[in-house]
Amino acid sequence: MRFDVLTLFPEIFSGYMGQSLLKLAIDRGLVDLQLHNIRDWATGKHNQVDDRPFGGGPGMLLMAPPVVECVEAVQQTTPREGQQGAGRLLMLTPQGRRFDQRLAEDLSQSGRLLLLCGRYEGFDQRIVDLLNPEEISVGDFVLNGGEVAAMVIIDAVVRLIPGVLGDEHSSVEDSFSRGNRMLEHAQYTRPREYRGLEVPEVLLSGNHPEIAAWREQNRIEKTSQRRADLLGGSPPIAE
Ligand code: SAM
Repeated sequence: MRFDVLTLFPEIFSGYMGQSLLKLAIDRGLVDLQLHNIRDWATGKHNQVDDRPFGGGPGMLLMAPPVVECVEAVQQTTPREGQQGAGRLLMLTPQGRRFDQRLAEDLSQSGRLLLLCGRYEGFDQRIVDLLNPEEISVGDFVLNGGEVAAMVIIDAVVRLIPGVLGDEHSSVEDSFSRGNRMLEHAQYTRPREYRGLEVPEVLLSGNHPEIAAWREQNRIEKTSQRRADLLGGSPPIAE
């Protein structure tokens, strides 16, 4: 699967791309991550990419020409076999559709994603009008730029690509995932006893139907306590 990230700060991604799971996926040819610097499409003496908003107000906005031309040029680059044509264009913005596991699953079915990262006060509206991107938010808060949001999306999608995780089941049984859409059950590893806290006996029993039943019950209890909305109830009230 191919990711094209369009950003003013490609260097932010270098440490991220070297981390184990993603690096392994890139080395094994399962993921192709290309970075594009929007400033390469700036014109004029000062390579300007931002300017003050018409009508006044704080900060600077990304200008339409370099962003639109950068996206169009990247869309026209020929993808390799298995990487779909121009791809799905995602614009990172706090005003977009809220990113979640279902959307990650949907995106993981595409062969190619383009992630457009904003900065400063965001985008000139004509970028949206001309490119018609899918606007995606990673949550109801404001980041300094779209790069961290793009990494969140890449991270969540990459683990759903077949072959990336050692065990394919883990991404099905994770919290929110298609196996149950609930929070995951409690998990334990060695030692069997730590500071007086023991691993529940059933998990040591080797009785797989009983273990599955315990886990199911634990998922339901945990989810109803913390996230009743996932079971069709009301969302938790923030304190
Ligand atoms: N003025 C904009 C607004 O109020 O909607 C916020 C601009 S923000 C400081 C700069 C950039 O960070 C945005 O253009 C976007 O790319 C990114 N960003 C900030 N918060 C985000 C979020 N919750 N989800 C996705 N991207 C976000």
